[in-house]
Order: sequence, then C-alpha cells, then structure tokens
Amino acid sequence: SQITLEELPGVGPATAEKLKEAGFNTIEAVAVASPSELATTAEIGESTAAKIINAARQAADIGGFETGDVVLERRKMVGKLTTGCMEFDEMMGGGIETQAITELYGEFGSGKTQLAHQFAVNVQMDREHGGLNGSVIIIDTENTFRPERIAQMVKGLSEKYGMELDPEEFLQNIHVARAYNSNHQILLVDSATDLANELREMGKPVRLLIVDSLMAHFRAEYVGRGTLADRQQKLNKHMHGLLRFGDLFNACVVVTNQVMAKPDAFFGDPTRPVGGHVVGHTATFRLYLRKSKGDKRIIRLVDSPNLPEGEAVIAVTTAGLTD
Ligand code: ADP
Ligand code: MG
Repeated sequence: SQITLEELPGVGPATAEKLKEAGFNTIEAVAVASPSELATTAEIGESTAAKIINAARQAADIGGFETGDVVLERRKMVGKLTTGCMEFDEMMGGGIETQAITELYGEFGSGKTQLAHQFAVNVQMDREHGGLNGSVIIIDTENTFRPERIAQMVKGLSEKYGMELDPEEFLQNIHVARAYNSNHQILLVDSATDLANELREMGKPVRLLIVDSLMAHFRAEYVGRGTLADRQQKLNKHMHGLLRFGDLFNACVVVTNQVMAKPDAFFGDPTRPVGGHVVGHTATFRLYLRKSKGDKRIIRLVDSPNLPEGEAVIAVTTAGLTD
C-alpha cells in the first residue's frame, strides 16, 4: 500500500528531487514535517508544503482511531501529581497529569532539573499528600541526577508534613539510566517499558518517567542542512514512544528542553524551546521556566489542551520547591 514521494498529489519529479536532496526521503519523513520546515529546506512555497504534508499524512495513515467511550474510560484514570507549590498546582488544575507529556523548558540554571528531582520525590508519596504511590524512571542525558539532592528534598517533605520519611527508600524507587546518544535514548524507552512491566508486577508501578534533557543529544548530533528531516523523524518516534509509555502505565512523562534565541522577535520574550514542530505538538503541557529574584522562579503555562495560560511563582530551596 506504500506509495512513493512522486505519487503524492502536488509532488512532481522536480519537487520529489528537492525533497530528497533536503533529506525528506520517505512519506513518513514528510508526514511529520511542519510546512515551514519543509518549505525552507526544499525551497517550495509554504502552502504547497502544507498540501504535500496533508497528502503524506493520509498516505502514511498516521494515527489509528479509538471510539470516544474507550478514550473516556482511559481519561477517568488520569492522576495528578502535586508540584508541592500551591500556585503552581492551581495553574495546572491540581498538578502534573498522568497520560501526558509535560515539557519544562528554560535557560541553563532556570530550575528544570530541580523540578524533575522534586517530582521524583513527590510521586512516591501517597494520594493524601499529593503523590501517586509510584516509582520513577529517569533517562539522564547530561549526568545531572543527584541522589544527594533527592535526600535533601525527602528531608524537606519530612519536615513539611511532620513525617518520618527515609531517603534511602525513596532512592530505591528511582531507576536511573544514562543515555549516551540519541539512539540510545530512544532505545531506553523500550527498556523502561520492560522495567515498568516488572515493577508493576512487584506492586511498584511506575508513575513518572523523566527525560532530562530531551534535546541535548539530538541537537549535538544533527547539525547542518539536510539533517533536519532525519532528526525530526527520530524525534517524532521518540516523543510517540514517550506518549505511549504514559498511556500504557498511566504515568506522568516529564521532559526538559533547552531554549534558543529567536532572531526575529521584536516584542516579547526573545527565546523559544528547541525541537520545533514535533516537540511542540506532542508535548501536552508546555511550561516555561524563568529565573527571578534570588531563589524565585517564574513558571508560565504556555500550552495546554484544557487550561488557561497562566503564571506561578515558586522558590527553589535546599528543602525543595516551595511557594
Ligand atoms: P537547569 O536544569 O534548568 O539548567 P537546575 O535545575 O540545575 O537548572 O537549577 C540549578 C539551580 O538550582 C542552581 O542555580 C540553584 O539556584 C538551585 N539549586 C540547586 N541545588 C540546590 C540546593 N541544594 N539548594 C538550593 N538551591 C539549589
Ligand atoms: Mg538541567
């Protein structure tokens, strides 16, 4: 049933040649591109690009169908993980959702890794304390996971709730793997699935999967013209693997992302997250982190399917995230 690029409506031999030169060799590669990406790299008009992408999506049969009642049944299971901060929880409609990808993006030092550590602690708490009684898998690409930091945060929660919490136990429920390159990073989602199946049988279901950072390897490896299509295709596969994990295990998926300068911004914030259209459309919730005075951080909810945009102020302290 697979057709060739030349057979797509609106693509003649000349355009097919341009697409291939730019690295868009298959129907799938075209199907996951954005009109502006395709227009720039293949030197065609943006409306032509949009038509070609639509045709490619139909031909590639991207996405299957489910009936609404099946979706509803699954949605009923959605859990919310507390951030530990009131304003932040309120902005999120109660907390970070399971069965969704939450993207944390911001400059170096804005607190992405701190938030990821805090979620890895909070998710282990019982529901009464905003947790999901869950264990955690972390895919660490930058070697920034710090068990000492987890211990400080567990101590922080012990004091907050007046409970005796054992940092050692929390650390035993966090499974960390280093990813050495982007292919390895993608493969680790499969390993995570195997591990999560085992942990589920042991009565320690995984309720949080963290990828910190999502884009670092992809950015370092795919440099220069002609590599974008390939990168976005891999990234698309990766993001859908993550989404599937979230659905399969009713888990929160949290990814961190870098920002880059937006050279054409005359107004507003001159930075934007990297990863383009693929990350933008697959992340369910996008949170933009900015440094403020001292230990304060401003978190902006930029994109959400069911919540208004908003901002919350938190503090990153030794005891963890606080209001
Ligand atoms: P990003 O991942 O966005 O690059 P991080 O999450 O690593 O940034 O944030 C680093 C910042 O977190 C530090 O600059 C510091 O302000 C704060 N931080 C890190 N560790 C601690 C700690 N033990 N106590 C208080 N603040 C800390
Ligand atoms: Mg970091």
